[in-house]
Amino acid sequence: MAPRRIVILGGGYGALYSCPRLKRAARQGKVEVTLINKENFHIWHGFIGEMLVGKISPRSILTPARRVFQPAKIILAIVNQIDREKKLVSFIREHDGLPGTIPYDDLIINVGTRQSSESFPGLDEHGFKLKKWDHCFQLRNHIPRMFELASSTDDEDERRAMLTFFVAGGGFSGTEVAGSLASLAKKVIKKDYKELDMSEVRIVLVHPGKTILPEFYGPRVNTNQVKQYPSLVKYAEKQLKKSGVELKTETRILAVSPKSVTLDDGIVIPTRTVISAIGTSPQALVFGSDLPLTESQRLDCEPSGLVKGCTDIYAAGDCAAIPHPKGGEIPPTAWWAMKAGDHVAKNILRAMKGKKPKPFKLTGLGQAVSIGNNRACAELKGIPIKGFTAWVTWRIFLLYYFPSVDGKVRLLSDWMISPLLGRDIIDMSVDDFDDFEIKRMRYQPGELIVEQGRVGNTYQLILSGQAIVSQDVDGDGVDDFVKTLGVGDLIGHDSSDGIAKYSVKSDDVLETVALRHDEAEDLARTFSILLKSEHSS
Ligand SMILES: Cc1cc2nc3c(=O)[nH]c(=O)nc-3n(C[C@H](O)[C@H](O)[C@H](O)COP(=O)(O)OP(=O)(O)OC[C@H]3O[C@@H](n4cnc5c(N)ncnc54)[C@H](O)[C@@H]3O)c2cc1C
Repeated sequence: MAPRRIVILGGGYGALYSCPRLKRAARQGKVEVTLINKENFHIWHGFIGEMLVGKISPRSILTPARRVFQPAKIILAIVNQIDREKKLVSFIREHDGLPGTIPYDDLIINVGTRQSSESFPGLDEHGFKLKKWDHCFQLRNHIPRMFELASSTDDEDERRAMLTFFVAGGGFSGTEVAGSLASLAKKVIKKDYKELDMSEVRIVLVHPGKTILPEFYGPRVNTNQVKQYPSLVKYAEKQLKKSGVELKTETRILAVSPKSVTLDDGIVIPTRTVISAIGTSPQALVFGSDLPLTESQRLDCEPSGLVKGCTDIYAAGDCAAIPHPKGGEIPPTAWWAMKAGDHVAKNILRAMKGKKPKPFKLTGLGQAVSIGNNRACAELKGIPIKGFTAWVTWRIFLLYYFPSVDGKVRLLSDWMISPLLGRDIIDMSVDDFDDFEIKRMRYQPGELIVEQGRVGNTYQLILSGQAIVSQDVDGDGVDDFVKTLGVGDLIGHDSSDGIAKYSVKSDDVLETVALRHDEAEDLARTFSILLKSEHSS
């Protein structure tokens, strides 16, 4: 008999447990497993906080897909459609950009969710996100760069803005990042940046709810028998404040600009680092499919993990609303994703033997968050623990579940090296001059976009709103109005030597698209050649 074709979409935490469960059947030739994923690695989100602050190496939170998803055949591609009638998955292949298809007998959807902050103007454009590897790696390099640049400027306002780290969202990930940044600042200023002063560092954590860590008040999606842990939340808030984090609860972000954040209490915080730990929405594949979704925008699943109305499509992880045995949905965290991945794979094997699927029965193990300074808050099977003990327990727990032995060794060695040699403060980012770097920008009214006399290296094309151009002609500090710029006008093209002759301020909310001078010129040349050849043909 031909092996059953099991196709897994997305190499997330669910797939980490589905794949090994199918290993034996694959060895026996009963199943053929294929996994389609965007990346050739799995990222362990639990240690992103430690990676961002140079405690562990960026490499240490990654595991090669090829090893960890055995026995699956890996296809690097972006899945864009599921044809339920033909039992076919369509995708765009990474290696040549061409479309491809693969037939399935059973499908497991494990594509997670995407981070989006569209409801906060400017946060998507100017905030660092924490879900995807490229964003995390950029942020990991940006943080030491801010300390480096702050130590080389004489401008006090500029220095303070560079040393202000703004974190949006006081859930587990935002809280962890804020706490980790506070310990990093203390350590590196003492050891590496002695010319900087701790009093100039600001770590601001903003959360719309009454307290941070809403997870300890029970998952939103789980309605029954929710135990709450206010003492853990109080402890976390106290510890964060003690380590210098400014907590702003019941506060919302009104707007984020390249150089500041405006809050709903009217306060404007100048900063060069905005970290977004809020907002998830379904992946396009899930949202655009004809599969049923719950109110929480996850795939509506039976207790078996089968998507409702399907007999061959299962789902696991953050994208799957599998019912919690005590009511509501299982929470969107890694542990639940792994257990759901195992559960759906077991049910596929049962179905192959003609057996009925089993319902998801696990009720949870606990939850934990690290709050910096070797402290954590945790709840294990309903028992609250906090402080150093919770931090050690949290680390052991994450290390235990880390998907590869070589990864565990890397992590252990990082943990031993970092206290001895200090944090890794190297900015590893590379400028790829072959790549065009087009960036969308959003400014609030009255923001300075270009300052006369400063070197600027970007052109900005106005997409919406207006800007005012002014010039201090006599050098008396008073700017005279020159002109107004509107949609389609360019900002930043007034100088040949790169030093701005004028200042430009936004007149109202202004949206632009920014491009480096050298790249813009390249692009302009290319377009003029294109236009000429169009006219001549
Ligand atoms: C900063 C941070 C810290 C966290 N810390 C913890 C923690 O300490 N403990 C905890 O339990 N949880 C934690 N979480 C939550 C945890 O990461 C998620 O619950 C988990 O990632 C969900 O796993 P998943 O398998 O559903 O999806 P994901 O891990 O998101 O994996 C989905 C995969 O599918 C791929 N994919 C998506 N769309 C497509 C497509 N169209 N085609 C091909 N591939 C696609 C993606 O590239 C990705 O590889 C944290 C999350 C973040 C952001």
